[in-house]
Amino acid sequence: MADLKRKRELGRGERVLPGVWRLRLPLPWPGVPHCNAWAIASGDGIVLVDTGMHEPGSMAQLDRAMDMVNLRVETVRLLVCTHAHSDHVGQAKPIVERAGCELWLHPRHEHLTQTAFDPDTALERRLEVARTSGVPAAALDAYRERRKGGDYGVAGIVEPARDLVDGVEVSTDLGTWRVVETPGHAPSHVCLWQPERRLLISGDHLLGRVSPYYDYGWSEDPAGEFLTSLDRVEDLDARLCLSGHGRTFSDVAGHIAANRTLVHERIARVLDVVTYDGPLTAFEAVPRVFGEPLTPLNANWWISETLCYLRHLEVTGRVVREPGDGGVEAWRAA
Ligand SMILES: [Zn+2]
Ligand SMILES: [Zn+2]
Repeated sequence: MADLKRKRELGRGERVLPGVWRLRLPLPWPGVPHCNAWAIASGDGIVLVDTGMHEPGSMAQLDRAMDMVNLRVETVRLLVCTHAHSDHVGQAKPIVERAGCELWLHPRHEHLTQTAFDPDTALERRLEVARTSGVPAAALDAYRERRKGGDYGVAGIVEPARDLVDGVEVSTDLGTWRVVETPGHAPSHVCLWQPERRLLISGDHLLGRVSPYYDYGWSEDPAGEFLTSLDRVEDLDARLCLSGHGRTFSDVAGHIAANRTLVHERIARVLDVVTYDGPLTAFEAVPRVFGEPLTPLNANWWISETLCYLRHLEVTGRVVREPGDGGVEAWRAA
């Protein structure tokens, strides 16, 4: 039998432009082996964008990546996070403590901070969404057992010194970066835009690989918000994207178009499924939408993605939900 233990990657640093370094940090997630933090020269130090996830040994990986390009955590003058997911903000606490710098973050970070403050309530809240989506009780119990007392990849809560909202500027040696709010992937998501060089730090809003993910239940219409954010970023006309995972890429317009196409296809697919097979719970809809059965590995992601499309279709008047037994909701075409 093949060795199932995946060889863990090591933190690695590389210069991508004069004054801009990519810090590639390992992640423990299947299918997502690493994330990026970006260091930008700023006076006698750096502005650090994103942090990597916190777990045993993770600060040593950040130190290792920085060391490869002659940077140090102690020279971080400002920490800016693109959004409040653990792989982008998880190490904020030790970084802020070591560097004595501020953290800037979008104010709608409760989707993460509530989890970090009160993981049990957050877990129950997630289970309740799953239950009303039609997930069977046995699967809910198994999930609760797996996640109970689980680690969320966050070293601790840091109160942001500044709200990262439209119009906020971050100055660096490469010029001023402007904050562009881009909710969708997460309600707290922002991109950083450097207009003279047409550089975009895109977090998880745009990745080299088209792979939509949304936090369900923390905003009105995550899929609709994501589509609006794609339009916003398209108007910038960026020439190079520095994304939260993977390599930089220059075909920014192509990536935006591919994201938009995929999201519209999935929304249309969800509408088809509930129109022809409905009423259906989200749990029943998922295998029809994705053409594959649910597994413990994909369930969380696919159910919340499907719920986001159902919610978008509901907000735009194309589907309605019907409350059923025990509050389980079924969806049908309007
Ligand atoms: Zn994310
Ligand atoms: Zn990420």
